[in-house]
Amino acid sequence: MSDIFITETDLDPTASGALDGRTVAVKDNISTEGVATTCGSKMLEAYVPPYDATVVTRLKEAGATIVGKTNMDEFGMGTTTETSAFGPTDNPAAPGHVPGGSSGGSAAAVAAGEADLALGSDTGGSIRCPAAFCGVVGIKPTYGLVSRYGLVAYANSLEQIGPIANSVEDAAALLDVISGPDEHDATTRDAGDESDYASAATGEVDGLTVGVPRELVEGADDGVVETFEAALDDLRAQGAEVVDVELPSVEHAVEAYYVIAMSEASSNLARFDGVRYGVGAETDGNWNEAFAESREKGFGEEVKRRVLLGTYALSAGYQEKYYKKAQDARAWVKQDFDEAFESADVLASPTMPVPPFELGESLDDPLQMYLADANTVPVNLANLPAISVPAGESDGLPVGLQLIGKAFDEETIIRAGSALA
Ligand code: GLN
Repeated sequence: MSDIFITETDLDPTASGALDGRTVAVKDNISTEGVATTCGSKMLEAYVPPYDATVVTRLKEAGATIVGKTNMDEFGMGTTTETSAFGPTDNPAAPGHVPGGSSGGSAAAVAAGEADLALGSDTGGSIRCPAAFCGVVGIKPTYGLVSRYGLVAYANSLEQIGPIANSVEDAAALLDVISGPDEHDATTRDAGDESDYASAATGEVDGLTVGVPRELVEGADDGVVETFEAALDDLRAQGAEVVDVELPSVEHAVEAYYVIAMSEASSNLARFDGVRYGVGAETDGNWNEAFAESREKGFGEEVKRRVLLGTYALSAGYQEKYYKKAQDARAWVKQDFDEAFESADVLASPTMPVPPFELGESLDDPLQMYLADANTVPVNLANLPAISVPAGESDGLPVGLQLIGKAFDEETIIRAGSALA
């Protein structure tokens, strides 16, 4: 069984700054110059990037010590960290259970005290799910707040790099360091004045309106709902007003997400053919055979499934039926969120509808795994920010509460999140 770290690094702090003396673990799909970046895949087992991702440069400039690269679902495809070619990671907060995924190694490193802070990436929940399952804090930033330069793409229209930490304030301080425009990523946006997310963690919720989309609560396990409702009571007791809101489109979010994510993945992963990247294959001039052999050897089962389904969804004749429809559903989800935010400052739901699975439990049932993403994927479809904070336990297993904010309004979810954790 793999431990938390895939490769250990020996980077020294280079400068004094906001993260001076802090240790940070980095998900293994974020490029680190001179240090292997495998994406949890056999395909990239021997890949050593020649440059740092922008977020890594910013960590170093802030004085952080990067202590290792963390285990993950292969190319980010999963909810348990069990699709890693290097084996699963145990959950320090619930031994024998999955740490969540795909940034499971990053959340486990923080929960186990092996790093003060960690970076994950979130395409459809991969920061928030492991944060919830390991009883720590995770933030998925608004699309465009954090540079994706140097992040190995899975589904680039959905994903963001973000912080995982033991407290909301620590996660916010890490967000301060990594956020902001980057000339290497044209999708980054200037969110306004110099960011100061750490000082937004005041825990002040008096007068705040928290909307609860019942669609994201109804499908959850009883124990999860009980813990969630108790956390809402806590917010009420601190002066927040809790109201019901509607997000009718989210019943289609999982289908739309998986069609879009797999379509983008089939295109993004085309570069792994054993020529420039990936495991090599012998060829006597038959390149099709060589590519097929490389991809057969290098990719695991879940990645192959998604590349095949994504290619199918994009192929002539099916594009209208699947990809185009999924894009329409995405627009509808965005519109529903806009309407919900007319009557609420933030929205709250259980982060995951279920407590952490036992190790091995969901591996043979991809559909069960996909459905567990029901509460996290709508946020990526709408490009919004969200935080997962520990809300308590259900039968001794960690439960996370998700707070969703308006675009580029990370401050409010940080403020509300810090009232609970
Ligand atoms: N579980 C989702 C998926 O498998 C999300 C993964 C992620 O956010 N990288 O696609």
